[in-house]
This record gives sequence, C-alpha cells and structure tokens, in this order.
Amino acid sequence: MLYNESMEKISIAVIGGGASGLMLVNALAEYNLTAATPLPKTVVFERGDRVGKKLSSTGNGQGNITNSAVLDAEYFSSERTTEQKIAAILRAYDEEDMRAFWLRRGVLLIYDERGRAYPAGRQASALTDALRFYATEKGVELRTSAYVTDLKRMDGGFVLTYSKDGETHTCFAENVVLSVGGKAAKNFGTDGTSYALAQKFGHTCTPLYPSLVQLKTDTAHIKTLKGIRVNDGILTAKTPSGTYTVRGDIIFTDYGVSGDAVFRISAFIAQTIATGKVTLSIDFLPEYTQDELRNVLSAKRNAYTSLDNSELLFGVVNNQIGRAVMKRAAGDFDSAAALMKDFTLLVTGSLGFDYAQVTKGGVPLSETDEMLRSRFTDGLYMTGEVLDVDGQCGGFNLQWAYSSACTVAAALAEKYQKNGKGRDTV
Ligand SMILES: Cc1cc2nc3c(=O)[nH]c(=O)nc-3n(C[C@H](O)[C@H](O)[C@H](O)COP(=O)(O)OP(=O)(O)OC[C@H]3O[C@@H](n4cnc5c(N)ncnc54)[C@H](O)[C@@H]3O)c2cc1C
Repeated sequence: MLYNESMEKISIAVIGGGASGLMLVNALAEYNLTAATPLPKTVVFERGDRVGKKLSSTGNGQGNITNSAVLDAEYFSSERTTEQKIAAILRAYDEEDMRAFWLRRGVLLIYDERGRAYPAGRQASALTDALRFYATEKGVELRTSAYVTDLKRMDGGFVLTYSKDGETHTCFAENVVLSVGGKAAKNFGTDGTSYALAQKFGHTCTPLYPSLVQLKTDTAHIKTLKGIRVNDGILTAKTPSGTYTVRGDIIFTDYGVSGDAVFRISAFIAQTIATGKVTLSIDFLPEYTQDELRNVLSAKRNAYTSLDNSELLFGVVNNQIGRAVMKRAAGDFDSAAALMKDFTLLVTGSLGFDYAQVTKGGVPLSETDEMLRSRFTDGLYMTGEVLDVDGQCGGFNLQWAYSSACTVAAALAEKYQKNGKGRDTV
C-alpha cells in the first residue's frame, strides 16, 4: 500500500504495548508537559486485547521490576564488543532512576534480601495500570488488538499495515519504535514473528535461545522425586566453557528440574545446552561437609540396627531424596555422602521458548547507535527484548526494558522538543 493523503498520520508509532513500549511512551510524555510542546501524536499498537499482559504476570504476579545490583550484574549479548554500550545505557537510566520514575507514577518499590524490587502492593498489574493510565492521561493512544504485519519506508516516514477487528488498515508514521519483544512466552504475543519487521530494513537476528527456563535432564535417578523441592540447595552447572553456581530452590519434575535456582542458572548455560554437554550438580546440604554426612550415616547405622540402609537419611533430607541417593549409591555410605554434595544430572535440553521467560539473542546492538536508533533506517528505533541483550533472573530484564525505553525516549524528545526543557522529573 502506498502513501496517500487521506491516510492517518502519526508522529510516533510504537509497535508493542509490553513493558518497554509502555515505559517508552511514559518517559516520552515526561518531556512534553507544557502546552508549548504537546506530545506528538503517539500510538501504541498492541496485538493483544490488552496492553502489558506479560508485565502484569512478571515475578509470579508480584512484578520484580528491577534489582539493586543492576550496575554490577552481568548482561548477556552475542557481541562482546557491545558490553560498554549496554553498561552505558543501564548507567544512564539505572535502578535509582527507575525508582524515581515509579515514584512519579505513584508506585513505591520495596526490596527483598536479594535486592529484588517489587511494587509495595506486590501486584505486577499495578505497574501496568500506572503506565497505561499515565500514557492515556498524556494523550497517548493505546490501540489494542492491532497486529502490525508490515512496514515500508516512505519519504519522511513509514507506511504501517496492521490488522484490527478482521480488517487491514494502513497509516503513516514519521517514526517507528520496535518494542515487539522476543520469542519467549508466546502466549503473551511474543512468538518471534516480529523480528521480521526489523529484517525488512536490513537488520539481522542472532541465533535465539530460550533463557530463564526449566531444564530437562536425564531422569534415571530422579523418577521418584517429582514435585519434591530442595530448599536452598547449591546448584552448579559444568559446561565446556565454564562452571556456574547459584544457591536457591530446586524442584524435581518429571522432565528434570525447575525452581528459582534452575531459572537463574539457565541464563548462563542457555546457549551451551544447545551446542555442548552440560552437567548439573546439586549440593543438597551446603551447611554440612561430606565427612559430617558420612559420620551421620555410620552413627545411624549403629543406632537403628533394624532400619534398611535406604531409610537412613531420614531427618537429613526429604525421605524420598534420601532413598534416591541411597539407591544411586547402592547402599555405600561413602558414595551416598558424596552424592549428597554432588548429585549430578546430565542436561538434555530445556522446556523451550513457550516456557522461557526471556529470549537470548535478537537484533545485534551494533546495528543501532548509542541512542538505539537503527543504523540502517532513519526514524527506526528499538527497545527491550527484541535486541540482542538479556539479563539474569531477578528484575534485570525489566530494567533493560526501562533503560532502553528511556534511551529511545530521549532520542525522540530531542527530535520533537522545541523549547529544550528536558525531561520533567519533578
Ligand atoms: C512469566 C514471565 C515472568 C517474568 N518475570 C520477570 C520479572 O519478574 N522480572 C524481570 O525483569 N523480567 C521478567 N520477565 C521478562 C520480562 O517480562 C521481559 O523481558 C520484558 O517484558 C520485555 O519487554 P519488551 O517490551 O521488550 O517485550 P514484551 O513485554 O514481551 O512486549 C512485547 C509486546 O509486543 C506485542 N507485539 C509483538 N509483535 C507485535 C506486532 N507485530 N504488532 C503489535 N504488537 C506486537 C506483544 O503482544 C507484546 O505485548 C518475565 C517474563 C515472563 C514471560
């Protein structure tokens, strides 16, 4: 469809009403609070029937929005050379800046012992509500059930094609922001098809991997453990390229392992799972040494003469785990004590994109400038997970959504703001 005069004209079309798209229009609105600089016509196109569905489900519905350790944490990207660029974007709009942003939206953050920040009401939906109310208040249109299927470059902008209510529509947009997310959790509208919108302008996409996801393992030694949780175990992943360790909850399942520690470690091994051999090792009792466990077993053998060896780990670990350990050790106490500290499982895969929280990979950051403007097409910008940047579990991905959104908002504000007033952060 070519441009015609009667077409709807938009200054800024944001494709994707998820975390970064909504944060972007909020940040943008903060630059334009006077009548002299009204917000240029801004429309968010969201394929779902509501904006922010994924955001409202984050952090188990409690919304783990950032983390006090953002600036110390490792972020991942296929390109080692972009580390500094990621760090600069996170530094410019860091966790403190984000806390102030939420305060301006009337949302107070509270932090847990791992530095994870949540809205004080512990409802992720409050984050979405704050963002959509403010956006609407400032004149941003949130156009839902609007699925953008095509983008074409025209003089001074783009012709955007979208379907809504069974009909195809077109409009003209001076600027387009791709806030379309990645390929993880397709039930939230992110099925990976929207990378194609970037590819229309010569952008590429690195290989994609599911991250923050449950892991499949060999199940020979855990068949009886389905549903059992190890509270506060140490989980180590050994890969050909390195060893990673986290501490937290591990839950046995019929396919392998899940739980907080598993999600966290998956961020470090997502790529290696697909290409190499990864072994997990569980330390069931970090507080006790192998020798201490060996001694407990010997003492119990003497104290409970009629008890079968398979039962001797009662009171030490969950009974089912105790039986599984003793079975694997074939009743040998030295082996059993060793297994309690190093229960290995071969990783055979992950539950994949449908169950993953985050996509590893995306449009290379090097294809954008320091303000996340496309290096290939004027007027095209990108925020959030569509880019080849992902973070660990704990609020780091929503922080990236925020920092990247604020970066693009600053670039757009510079373009539109006439009085040079800057962002209104009062
Ligand atoms: C269950 C779950 C829990 C999570 N919990 C946390 C957490 O606690 N803390 C944390 O930091 N991160 C968490 N994450 C990750 C975090 O939610 C994402 O990294 C973040 O939402 C990415 O923001 P985004 O704007 O890039 O994409 P998204 O939030 O995924 O938004 C993209 C939006 O674009 C829309 N869209 C896509 N293509 C089109 C198109 N062509 N036309 C119109 N609309 C389109 C989609 O429908 C979607 O609404 C979680 C993820 C999941 C799935």
